[in-house]
Amino acid sequence: MLGKIFPENNPHLNQNYSLSLYWILSRISLLYKIPEDQYSVIRNNFEKLDIARLEAMNRDYSERPNDDIFEDLSLAMSRGNTGIEGIQTRHDIIGAYLFNGVELEPLPNVDPNRIYSHEEKLILFTRAGGKCQLEHFGNICGHILDFDEAVVDHIKPHSAGGLTLLENGRISYKLCNISRGVRDDFNPATECKYAIISTT
Ligand SMILES: [Zn+2]
Repeated sequence: MLGKIFPENNPHLNQNYSLSLYWILSRISLLYKIPEDQYSVIRNNFEKLDIARLEAMNRDYSERPNDDIFEDLSLAMSRGNTGIEGIQTRHDIIGAYLFNGVELEPLPNVDPNRIYSHEEKLILFTRAGGKCQLEHFGNICGHILDFDEAVVDHIKPHSAGGLTLLENGRISYKLCNISRGVRDDFNPATECKYAIISTT
């Protein structure tokens, strides 16, 4: 698949990236088919990511707090292939951006786990802009989350037959998620003290 996504030599693709891409694509392919007409979207996302990384390398971070994930990616790339943390950072950042706007088709007959995979959470977290997506009659929580505070909520509860697939997943603050349980009447406007309510 990697060969089809990158049919020609690509100046952005080095060995460390190849390993990360191989790993991420393998993980996603356990649950989703990636249609061939989506390969160019993936390639574009990857190129954009690497261009952002190269720009980040030349930025001056002394003036402001370092919260730029592209710099994290730069560091993870320059650390090379060694060190679990660098590899994990690389996988996570690439995994989060690689599937922007990509149509993934759930594989038939995959018996979905009750828990979303790490890679699915990365994709959903990025699509959600890192905000809690729980909503009640059009009121969206919007609490801004760290990745570690976020969990993936089944829109249709798993206990009610909701599948563990991207289309049935949304990002939620873990405490919101606990208080929501399987209720349909969880109202972030009154039940989440961190909510930044917006409406649909
Ligand atoms: Zn919330």
